[in-house]
Amino acid sequence: MAISKTIKEKTNMTEMKVGYSYLAEQFADPEAILNRIKQLLKKGDFTLGNAVEEFEKGFAQLHKVRFAIGVNSGTDALFLALKALGIGSGDEVISAPNSFIATTGAIVMSGAKPVFVDANDEYLLDPNLIEKAITPKTKAIMPVHLTGNAADMEKILAIAKKHNLRVVEDAAQAVSAAIDGKPVGGFGDAAGFSLHPLKNLNVWGDGGMITTNSEDLARSLRLLRNHGLKTRDEIQIFGINSRLDTLQAIVGNHILNELKPITEARIRNAAIYDKAFSKLSQFIKIPPRKPNVRQVYHTYVIQVQDRDKLHKYLLDNGVDTKIHYPIPIHLQEAAKHLGYKKGAFPVTEKQTDEILTLPVHQAVTQEKIAYVIECVEKFYKP
Ligand SMILES: *Cc1c(COP(=O)(O)O)cnc(C)c1O
Repeated sequence: MAISKTIKEKTNMTEMKVGYSYLAEQFADPEAILNRIKQLLKKGDFTLGNAVEEFEKGFAQLHKVRFAIGVNSGTDALFLALKALGIGSGDEVISAPNSFIATTGAIVMSGAKPVFVDANDEYLLDPNLIEKAITPKTKAIMPVHLTGNAADMEKILAIAKKHNLRVVEDAAQAVSAAIDGKPVGGFGDAAGFSLHPLKNLNVWGDGGMITTNSEDLARSLRLLRNHGLKTRDEIQIFGINSRLDTLQAIVGNHILNELKPITEARIRNAAIYDKAFSKLSQFIKIPPRKPNVRQVYHTYVIQVQDRDKLHKYLLDNGVDTKIHYPIPIHLQEAAKHLGYKKGAFPVTEKQTDEILTLPVHQAVTQEKIAYVIECVEKFYKP
């Protein structure tokens, strides 16, 4: 079959590599960050130093919320948000089976039981299925702004209000995403963000942020992330050590200044893909794009025919693609005790077999985008 040959063999195209990671390009000139780290070495305020407060202020401003609290990771952000809301053993939290495992991991580690609700055609928690999953034990809903698209917060908040549930947004993939101009992170009681190297606002290791508009929650969260220390020697509540490192906050402050062009490049790249792939609609399904939502494209995920073959074909042609995620959470070994069987979430399971993530990040040049599109076109129309 023609598709077993690479484009290079067939057309003498020069070798092109489209990487999934952009870190080498992004940090090719690290002098500005390194200079600030040198100043940190002189001062030595490695834990909860000035840069952390500066970053928390900038992050809160970006998401139009009153408070942002820096923590160790996005996973800790979600876990501590649940803890601060008093959610734990005996409680149920409604969330998505199609997410990075940390969403469910945070719920389980809080002591609560995760209860899943299927996805809609945007890969987001289907609000029409939430009420059926509510029991007397339900305490919270944790929607995931997957791919950098915003979950349907209007409907989710209405359900939460009606049933007196808390809402924690998993915004790990959605820095600066917005609905009708209002950024994610301020819709629920609290939200968790990730600063992982492959997230849109990234640092040099692990980091996370919690946003909230509640002064009480913010106070609890600052205690929880720092052993519950009220003063150097007095402990108000028991907590853990989950501080955002000053060093990572320095990197975060730097990237905060570059976030606009980073996000705009991702949005522009996604629009180019959308336009090209809309002409291949018999093979490719693009999720609906809502004009009032600012999607920030942490990932660009489409549903494609012959997914595994296309995946391999693109890899063979130098285009690094991924699957987010190849095993839905309810079918993971770790989730066995929850008792879900194959077929429990048909939309998620069908998507799992068809989804493919193409590189959409800021280091994907126009030339590379055109190459990826050409590869996909040649696969379906050799
Ligand atoms: C990355 C991610 C997390 C966890 O963030 P870490 O910083 O890696 O701990 C949680 N939820 C989702 C949806 C993520 O993509």
